[in-house]
Amino acid sequence: MDWGGAVSLPSYLKPRPLWPRRHRPCGRLLRNLMVYSNGHVGACDCVDFDASSELILGNVAQMSLAEMWNGEQIRKIRSDWKTGRRIPAICSKCHTYRPGPVS
Ligand code: SF4
Repeated sequence: MDWGGAVSLPSYLKPRPLWPRRHRPCGRLLRNLMVYSNGHVGACDCVDFDASSELILGNVAQMSLAEMWNGEQIRKIRSDWKTGRRIPAICSKCHTYRPGPVS
């Protein structure tokens, strides 16, 4: 794994191929939230090393985890992906993507 391009792989290693992901949100968006050391909360920290992606839902100093987990922002991320309207940029080229359940 090249950690979202943050690590240059030696020439003899190749990154995992990108799985097709249209209409199938990543399963990690359905599992849990990640709290960063600065209080930011993300829907996934897999390749968002500096907590700056659109997967950041807020900060624990201003909002509860329950509000973020049940909030409009994460609901929109999932539904936009599922309907094919939009995949978050950080997710579109992520080699750690794993399709979530079909619903
Ligand atoms: S595609 Fe990658 S960055 Fe996006 S939620 Fe899945 S594991 Fe996280």
